[in-house]
Amino acid sequence: MSLLSIRNLQVHFPVNQGIFSKAHQVVRAVDGVSLDVEPGETLGLVGESGCGKSTLGRAAIRLIAPTAGEIHFDGRDITRLSSGDLRPLRRQFQMIFQDPYGSLNPRMTVEEIIGEALDIHGLAADASARHGRVAELLSDVGLDASHANRYPHEFSGGQRQRIGIARALAVEPKLIVCDEPVSALDVSVQAQIVNLLRDLQDRRGLAYLFIAHDLAVVEHISRRVLVMYLGRVVEGGEAREVCRAPKHPYTQALLSAVPAVDPATKRSRIVLTGDVPSPINPPSGCPFHPRCPVAQARCRTEVPVNRDIGNRRQVACHLV
Ligand code: SF4
Repeated sequence: MSLLSIRNLQVHFPVNQGIFSKAHQVVRAVDGVSLDVEPGETLGLVGESGCGKSTLGRAAIRLIAPTAGEIHFDGRDITRLSSGDLRPLRRQFQMIFQDPYGSLNPRMTVEEIIGEALDIHGLAADASARHGRVAELLSDVGLDASHANRYPHEFSGGQRQRIGIARALAVEPKLIVCDEPVSALDVSVQAQIVNLLRDLQDRRGLAYLFIAHDLAVVEHISRRVLVMYLGRVVEGGEAREVCRAPKHPYTQALLSAVPAVDPATKRSRIVLTGDVPSPINPPSGCPFHPRCPVAQARCRTEVPVNRDIGNRRQVACHLV
């Protein structure tokens, strides 16, 4: 059974047009996405900025209310649970962020930050147990127990991300939504954090929904990957297969920008023209058609269905 199961999820936001107008338009941030995350696995979610992947990650754990669709966590329908009913479940799904500095209270010490998570869920019997647990968690993420009395500004970006991971781990979750957790870090530090996440997964059986714009990072950590464009999944499958032989023209373009690990692999760069269209007024037919280098006439009018093409691959393109 899937740990997280999402069916046809939609997240739409109303946007007011002006102070004198009551009419509003709708941003279709997530527009009919289905996915499953198995216990202990990593599902990668990749796409350009504005494709809806972060909104999907937040909606998956009910930090944002979905407009339509269904979310099941560990067999339980959490789509419309009240915040009171969600509270006891919250420790099972946690989130880590791109900017750990923004999510760590600068006026709290590391012990207070991690200890707060323990206190909220009643996971430390007393101050001594709390202190010991914080030291253990710091050690688990490669920091020293002596760091507990310091403040977030005293750490590097990579160390702050480790603190964010320790805080998420404090409540012993089953799933962590990782929202671009390495995008703001130097390349060498990125590898350290990705390796730490993999190591923690092996030791604790954690599942990750790993969100990134960089397919190379996602390929490194994920067993399966979904590629999103304008709020929809355009391709999905085993990460290695999708990266070795991408089928959708958008995935091919994304991958062409990633240097091949094997120098024998020749990739010619596909330069996409234009920006990602507005999700307020997405293009008709295939939403990728204004930028697609191989678009045909029918692409302007017919929406491609996300089809299963075998070998656990899915693609939404008329030409595949
Ligand atoms: Fe390109 Fe048409 Fe395929 Fe869309 S459906 S990706 S426009 S070829």
